[in-house]
Amino acid sequence: MNRKITVNDRSYDWPAQPVVVVCIDGSEPAYIEAAVADGVMPFTAKMLAQGADLRANCVVPSFTNPNNLSIVTGQPPAIHGISGNYFLDPDSGEEVMMNDPKFLRAPTIFKAFQEEGAKIAIITAKDKLRRLLGHGLTLGAEGATCFSSEKSDQATESENGISGVVEMVGMPVPDVYSAELSEFVFAAGVKLMARDRPDLMYLSTTDYVQHKHAPGTPGANAFYAMMDGYWAQLDAMGCVLSLTADHGMNAKHGSDGAPSVIYLQDLLDDWLGRSAARVVLPITDPYVVHHGALGSFATVYLPDSADAAALIEKLSAVEGIEYVAGNAEACARFELPQDRIGDLVVVSTRQVVLGTNESGHDLSGLEVPLRSHGGVSEQTVPLMVNRPVQGITERTLRNFDAFDVALNHTLEVRSAAQ
Ligand SMILES: [Zn+2]
Repeated sequence: MNRKITVNDRSYDWPAQPVVVVCIDGSEPAYIEAAVADGVMPFTAKMLAQGADLRANCVVPSFTNPNNLSIVTGQPPAIHGISGNYFLDPDSGEEVMMNDPKFLRAPTIFKAFQEEGAKIAIITAKDKLRRLLGHGLTLGAEGATCFSSEKSDQATESENGISGVVEMVGMPVPDVYSAELSEFVFAAGVKLMARDRPDLMYLSTTDYVQHKHAPGTPGANAFYAMMDGYWAQLDAMGCVLSLTADHGMNAKHGSDGAPSVIYLQDLLDDWLGRSAARVVLPITDPYVVHHGALGSFATVYLPDSADAAALIEKLSAVEGIEYVAGNAEACARFELPQDRIGDLVVVSTRQVVLGTNESGHDLSGLEVPLRSHGGVSEQTVPLMVNRPVQGITERTLRNFDAFDVALNHTLEVRSAAQ
């Protein structure tokens, strides 16, 4: 039997055993490298020796929503439409969150598999992603399960395909700013795998820990040790594990600990007049405490009178700016939907972030020096599989190859027990 499911111009083999894809939010490769070297990820150390330890490029802007949707559709934002966490909706002229499924332009891999009878389970840390990831699925007893840690106590059969999550997991509902919010995802995933044995499972964490703690520090290592224990349990249940990240994470501050920010709106106000240009930061979301809405990618809407070429040249000369281009060139390079990106795209360097007005960012919630993402400098992410893989040596992997690698390129391994 060799069933294939085709969705968004890619085809996937039917899984012989459950496939679990994990999106570790903000997992710069150095986190796992350091935790393995420090001996706190014993399962992962063994898995990387016996399976596949690869690197992949994420989508730029290296933010959460565009990358999660790329992973679950197998395509870049030019196809699925989710260009940021936040964007300027050309239909309404309003800046809005990109959490609504109405912005999604492609079906998910889950939907295509469910239509052929697969059982699907999706668990996310924050509720903001839930409706996008679960879009188009039939939920309920005979259907899929899709819920968040954040609102796990409110999960219902009709909305989430499951109720009694908190009782099932045996953990209290975690605070939205906590490592436990991600732990709950894995604890629930292990319980659901044991109970329902879904064909495809997707687990997506939050980068609360990575925004606060550098690779190899005690706070980071404790988090990765926690994940290692749950991955070992899923592996022991016979699952194929495909682990990747939505984006990396870098320190974005000077030696004094103050964030290194280019306030783009202030700069453009100086050059063009107040509010003549409009800077949109697609990192913006309702949970900005740990990054103050500062990331390394911005898009700019210009007034008709502006000389875009001259501005590109002027911005390119600003120290800390790595890349500036017009809409068409930037959308071609980063595979973004042109109608959801402004006239310019601006990307800052590894240790620099982009803001709007200096007065517009509330940095009071930053308890530790800023760590953030969004740029090309956070594009390299892990792609690790608990099986040897074949047939992918000639290509540049993307994080949105995670399902392809797990379903089409893993070699079966016989466990010692068989
Ligand atoms: Zn993220």
